[in-house]
Amino acid sequence: MSKHHVVVIGGGGTGGAIIHDLRLRGIEATLVERGELTSGTTGRHHGQLHCGARYAVKDRAIARECMEETYILKRIARESLEANYGLFVALNDEDEEHVPIFIQSCVESGIPTKEVPVKHALEMEPNLNPDIRRAIMVPDGTIDAWRLPLQFFASARHNGAGIHTFTPVTGFRSSGKAITGVQVYDLKTRREFTIAADLVINATGAWAGQVTKMADVEIPITPGPGTMVAVRKRLANMVISHLHPAGDGDIIVPQRGLSIIGTTQYRTDDPDDIAVPEEDISEMYRCADMLIPTFSSQKYHAAWIAARPLAGAASTADDARNLSRDFNVVDHGEIDGREGLVSVIGGKATVLRAMAEQTVDAACVKLGITECCTTAETALLPHRAYST
Ligand SMILES: Cc1cc2nc3c(=O)[nH]c(=O)nc-3n(C[C@H](O)[C@H](O)[C@H](O)COP(=O)(O)OP(=O)(O)OC[C@H]3O[C@@H](n4cnc5c(N)ncnc54)[C@H](O)[C@@H]3O)c2cc1C
Repeated sequence: MSKHHVVVIGGGGTGGAIIHDLRLRGIEATLVERGELTSGTTGRHHGQLHCGARYAVKDRAIARECMEETYILKRIARESLEANYGLFVALNDEDEEHVPIFIQSCVESGIPTKEVPVKHALEMEPNLNPDIRRAIMVPDGTIDAWRLPLQFFASARHNGAGIHTFTPVTGFRSSGKAITGVQVYDLKTRREFTIAADLVINATGAWAGQVTKMADVEIPITPGPGTMVAVRKRLANMVISHLHPAGDGDIIVPQRGLSIIGTTQYRTDDPDDIAVPEEDISEMYRCADMLIPTFSSQKYHAAWIAARPLAGAASTADDARNLSRDFNVVDHGEIDGREGLVSVIGGKATVLRAMAEQTVDAACVKLGITECCTTAETALLPHRAYST
């Protein structure tokens, strides 16, 4: 057992995976979250288990990582996933031209693909647009956005992690330039106190820049909001994607009894100040109907928006769309002279375990700990164990 204590800020999927990894390596760990667990972007994402096919043309490395993490999550967190596969469909001449490069990029990224004759695709997915030109099956799937992180939190807590919800970090404790802990405010007891730490990990996603500002450090992060719309019917079994270079509203994810179309892409300075633009709803319906023509005639369930934690600086929505979907672990000791603080920025829910592994590897180097990561081989507790 290590004598070190690490504080993790942020109770989304990334923070959950980090605190689980820390405990498996025998490191004392406490997580603080300003609201309820998963109340940030994690509890509001689209719910797609990305096998990487969506990213393969642009970035083989990200695609390969998604595929590897999909295999790992299927081993350690089966109950939070549906292995329902994905179907990329070409709708027009331009899409058809994109098919060879799409398949080639998937193959080069280690992603299995299978072209399905259109007739067969329509038998498997009878609600699909009957005019689709090509259909390629890939190992995408559906993630339960709440259950997956709760499996990490349940396992971490079972292994002795401290988890404080409704406890925002309001500042940092320092000794000279080194960070030695966090100052928090417990919203339940209305008590302010400090938590000492040998290292603080900032896993606050789209809020990461606001948190590092409290330590007088700037970090390149762009909150990129996107809208999703759900209707009350499961219109497909597989995740249906428009086979084209990425754009708005090109993925329909089936989730329990719902079908969810998403998303759009904006940029904002404040991830707390976002609302669904009215026009997004009709635009999402228009895009969904191109894939599944009866989508917009189903009963409306909900529309919501969440902010992507995009790693990198972007001043416009178009710049934000072009930012990589990769993640970075930032050692503020090395970059800003603020020892004791590490941030993880970017990424996506599918690769939360890999994000945690690289972050905790960096933490271990700083603390002189040699324990290796075992999260890829350790089955997680059921999500219900968090409440029981
Ligand atoms: C529209 C959209 C669709 C997406 N769809 C998918 C998808 O289909 N598949 C996929 O793999 N990924 C998807 N993503 C990406 C994925 O949702 C995110 O990458 C992931 O949820 C980020 O998790 P996180 O834990 O890093 O951040 P968050 O879940 O945002 O967690 C950060 C936490 O930090 C807390 N916090 C902030 N400030 C403080 C403070 N001062 N003190 C304490 N706590 C604080 C917040 O309350 C929050 O809970 C999507 C994202 C968006 C926006």
